[in-house]
Amino acid sequence: MMTKNALAMLLSRLAVFEQPVARLEQYPTPSDIAADLLWEVRGELIDARVVDLGCGTGILGIGALLLGARHVCGYEVDGSLSSLVKRNLDWIDEQVGGELGSIGEKFSLVIADVTKIDSLEADVIIMNPPFGTRAVHADRLFLSKAIGVPVICSLHKTSTMDYLAGWMEKQGHRLAWKKAVSFPLKATMDHHTKTRQMTDVTLCVFTQV
Ligand code: SAH
Repeated sequence: MMTKNALAMLLSRLAVFEQPVARLEQYPTPSDIAADLLWEVRGELIDARVVDLGCGTGILGIGALLLGARHVCGYEVDGSLSSLVKRNLDWIDEQVGGELGSIGEKFSLVIADVTKIDSLEADVIIMNPPFGTRAVHADRLFLSKAIGVPVICSLHKTSTMDYLAGWMEKQGHRLAWKKAVSFPLKATMDHHTKTRQMTDVTLCVFTQV
């Protein structure tokens, strides 16, 4: 059985965006934050069908597989990331050495715009969606795709949390757990002037009422 520290350690060694695209809000989730969120739903992840919306480098989906998910489908609009995801899957398989079966074989990457997909079949949805600072309402649009799934794990700007939780409640999803964290927005993007800017983010687990 994987410990939370071992999970965070493995995730910390995955490759991140080489040239993050500001328009797509490509901010990687720090490994300790990813481990915190996934650990909270570890019971629900066992043998689960998981969907990772805006999967980026694959970190959240890979973490879910390390905790025993049956399958992960990662949706990502930026097709240029597929080699990075593949590299991360190959690397993780080398590390865990087939103990959990091949992680790579359990992860399907779908290159698609999440805001345009229809319904999803999943037991658990995980996402670090665009916070909606560049693409307005991207956060709520991502959440809207998860409606009807029993467990939804997401990260949101703390300033938008109350609004989003209220909206989710109306759709039949209660905020069951939350944790405030400080999230680094790295200054690899040209519209940033500071080297490292921190934002208040809340980790959320929504369950169906
Ligand atoms: N899940 C990763 C990446 C988070 S950054 C992690 O936790 O580290 C947000 C991701 O969503 C980026 O990879 C970005 O390319 C992707 N994204 C942004 N808009 C999208 C859209 N409309 N459809 C699918 N993916 C999108």
